[in-house]
Amino acid sequence: MLAADREYNLLEISFPVEGWNAMALELRDELGYPAYRSLHPAAASFQENGHCFFGWYSAAIRGNGEMYPCCLLMSPDYKPLGNPVGSTFAKQWNGPGFNRLRVEMRSVLLRNPPAFEPETFKVIRKQCVEPGMCSLKKMYFRGDEEFYSRLGRALTGARRRSRWKNTFLHAVGTARERLRRTPAPPK
Ligand code: SF4
Repeated sequence: MLAADREYNLLEISFPVEGWNAMALELRDELGYPAYRSLHPAAASFQENGHCFFGWYSAAIRGNGEMYPCCLLMSPDYKPLGNPVGSTFAKQWNGPGFNRLRVEMRSVLLRNPPAFEPETFKVIRKQCVEPGMCSLKKMYFRGDEEFYSRLGRALTGARRRSRWKNTFLHAVGTARERLRRTPAPPK
């Protein structure tokens, strides 16, 4: 494939395991593929913001209508997020299952670095959070500079707002607690 792509420069090779990427680079050199071309380009803000966003863009659907976030989560132990049979795709896409998926993915995108918390996350799995565990998340779109710089700007703003909100809620909570503990003056 690399040899055939020498003059077209269409291939993007990105494996979930870094050792495999190193092997691809060795092959590139052996085949005389131009060394200045990256085989797995990543946008500048990918490292910081490269968590999964499939909840806003895709659904994998079985023949019986069961809907999943992606094909990797179509496993027997994963409860489908919806089913348009007897309903509509739009209703399911905007229903509780996919909305929950977006809330959980948003929380992963906002945290830096995120950690998987089994008691908190109900529809995403460990591989959706831990680095290197999902091949889909790492492969597609990672070289798209325009997409990742827009996502990076949006997330910077959202992280800032979320910090302010948490600081405010913490301050309100502390003030309430202080109020509760402080005895009222005698009448
Ligand atoms: S991180 Fe991977 S397994 Fe999880 S929803 Fe995204 S594509 Fe699917």
